[in-house]
Amino acid sequence: MRVTRLLSAPFGVNVFVAREGDRALVVDASSGMDWPAFEPALRRALAGVKVDAAYLTHLHVDHVGGAARVARLTGAPLLMHEDEAFAVETGDPVATGAALFGGEMEAHPVTPLREKDVVTLGRRALEVLLVPGHSPAHTALWDPESRSLFSGDVVFEGGSFGRVDLPGGDARTLLRSLERLAALDPVNVYPGHMGAIEGGARSAILESLDNARLMLG
Ligand SMILES: [Zn+2]
Ligand SMILES: [Zn+2]
Repeated sequence: MRVTRLLSAPFGVNVFVAREGDRALVVDASSGMDWPAFEPALRRALAGVKVDAAYLTHLHVDHVGGAARVARLTGAPLLMHEDEAFAVETGDPVATGAALFGGEMEAHPVTPLREKDVVTLGRRALEVLLVPGHSPAHTALWDPESRSLFSGDVVFEGGSFGRVDLPGGDARTLLRSLERLAALDPVNVYPGHMGAIEGGARSAILESLDNARLMLG
């Protein structure tokens, strides 16, 4: 699996293109607010591959504002946890934070996901993990073969972790999610913001968990 990181303004959100052979998976869909600049970069990253799906980690506008456009560009289904899918399916400006942070939500159908569902990328089977706390039904995507984790806004490099002060956020729940991700013993973490952690990702998550226990516990 080869992972390419694209950056979407104005919230500094990461969009990942994971490639396996001639297949690709898009992880998160950009804010949509920088679409004229973002679209050519996404097209380049997707040159020569067929997109199996666009997977959305959670309902915040920085990650899903461009979801309808990514779906149209790729022809791929949008995948998202069943308890947050409504936000994209109805283009909900409040639940996504678009009303607060800016951006426009365009409604688009979503294929609902649940804990332990499998998202396929070519011959790979990635597992859906429910890791709430930053948002009510935030999920991460785990590739057991490469021990790589697409973690959304749960954990970041430098000992950082997801904020819990947005609607539906919960500190204790986020702590449990961080514990769960550390227990996976991942090698690589591809988070929703800041840089990717490639190699030794478990110790990076443990550092974030220590900080989260101090600040939230
Ligand atoms: Zn978020
Ligand atoms: Zn975010």
